[in-house]
Amino acid sequence: MASRIQNYIDGEWVDAAGIDALPVHNPATCELLALCPESNQADVDHAVQAARAGFAEWRQTPLLSRAQYMHHFKVQMEDRFEEVARTIVIENGKTMDEARGEVRRGIESIDFALGVPFLMRNDGVEDISSGIDETTVRQPAGVFVAITPFNFPSMVPLWFLPVAIVCGNTFILKPSPQTPLSAQLILEMLDDLDLPEGVVNLVHGGVAASTALMEHPGVTGVSFVGSTPVAKIVYETCTRNGKRVQAQGGAKNYIAVMPDANLDASVMNILGAAYGCAGQRCLAAAVAVGVGDAYEPLKEKLRSQAQQLRVGYGLDESSQMGSVVSDAARERIEHMISEGEAAGAEVLVDGRSVDVDGYEGGSFVGPTILADVTPEMSVAREEIFGPVLSLMKADTFDEAIELINGSKFGNGASIFTSNGNYAREFKYHVNAGNIGVNIGVAAPSASFPFGGQKDSFFGDLHGQGADSIEFFTERKVVIERWV
Ligand code: NAD
Repeated sequence: MASRIQNYIDGEWVDAAGIDALPVHNPATCELLALCPESNQADVDHAVQAARAGFAEWRQTPLLSRAQYMHHFKVQMEDRFEEVARTIVIENGKTMDEARGEVRRGIESIDFALGVPFLMRNDGVEDISSGIDETTVRQPAGVFVAITPFNFPSMVPLWFLPVAIVCGNTFILKPSPQTPLSAQLILEMLDDLDLPEGVVNLVHGGVAASTALMEHPGVTGVSFVGSTPVAKIVYETCTRNGKRVQAQGGAKNYIAVMPDANLDASVMNILGAAYGCAGQRCLAAAVAVGVGDAYEPLKEKLRSQAQQLRVGYGLDESSQMGSVVSDAARERIEHMISEGEAAGAEVLVDGRSVDVDGYEGGSFVGPTILADVTPEMSVAREEIFGPVLSLMKADTFDEAIELINGSKFGNGASIFTSNGNYAREFKYHVNAGNIGVNIGVAAPSASFPFGGQKDSFFGDLHGQGADSIEFFTERKVVIERWV
């Protein structure tokens, strides 16, 4: 019998008051891993009270001491690197290599937080007026919440938690109920650091827990990462409740391939971008646009390479692509492939009903390519969030830009070319927050803000980088005269 996992509140592991629980499955083996409680209003009240009480002491803890905790946390993450990666694999389905990449990226966010003592410094001038000095100081703002998705269950919480607490805030994490075990492990490591009570808290659950957190008067701000419909709800609920909010949503990322591109290198990059993490990345390549003469050779090379990818269990190191997160996800993805086919797309490589020896009941979808996709098809417009690449043709560079900018999403977009002018025009005109030039997955490193425009982002200050310091602090201006 799988055990019911606990919340972590006020420095202790506690049972959730909420009675219901959701099963957490290994999506490849179907093994029941745990039961994730649906925390309720009482659980959220408990966590917010603990975080508020903890804030009073934590904000006065010297900044360098706060950063030192993150140094020790980083050491723990390095020591338990493989265990964190395995936990990601068993609850999410990606491969060990992909999970290792995720853990490395998470550690980079901790590294960034170690620089917060420098980044929190501010400016000032003497004699702004006669005998008057004026300075700004940054102060922690209070209790922050992160509501995070299933696809990077370790990395995404670390985009927010380390910076928020080094800035002097206290924190409540509400991870995806589909993948709560990575968060459990993160909190286990933080618990070992003997942080003061209430500084970090973990509340499991789904919509009810998220809503209670967003509406709670004791919460200062919310960082959200997930699908666009939920990002809109989160943005509206938080603003209605007077909270600062950054809500990163879904995506439909386009890659344009020019006739002058290095075709072999482009194809390898696009394969990685489309099928890495089984397409469950917010920066996954969803549509490849072959411009002019690039289309036919691109189609042929992608077809022959995609067919060779080895689909298997993530813990098997020979697997090149793992499972998707659940059976419901598999069904949704297969349904969208069929929808594309019915609308007239050619199923060039078909990942429906893929067989994986030894894991017959697993949630696997093989690499899929839909060719001759046109802009009005749902597979060109909607996020599939699975290993499905749509191929579109554009006669000219301008037409490719028009196709890309016609998308309601604006998370990432890339171009493959050897022409600097095309690259510049692309950077200049494409309305997306993360632009790649000869890079398939344009994922910003921890010191840069994670971009996102249109329906891919709601708010103004993005996650990561300098934006995160702004988001997690309050600025105060001090004007002084001493006679
Ligand atoms: P999701 O929107 O279903 O869930 C995300 C989080 O929101 C979970 O913690 C969930 O419990 C919670 N939630 C669900 N419904 C809610 C509601 N009505 N009110 C409040 N909270 C609610 O997303 P997912 O399926 O876990 O993740 C995949 C999505 O995340 C994809 O759309 C992907 O593009 C997106 N994503 C975006 C980024 C980015 O940086 N833009 C990064 C990673 C993933």
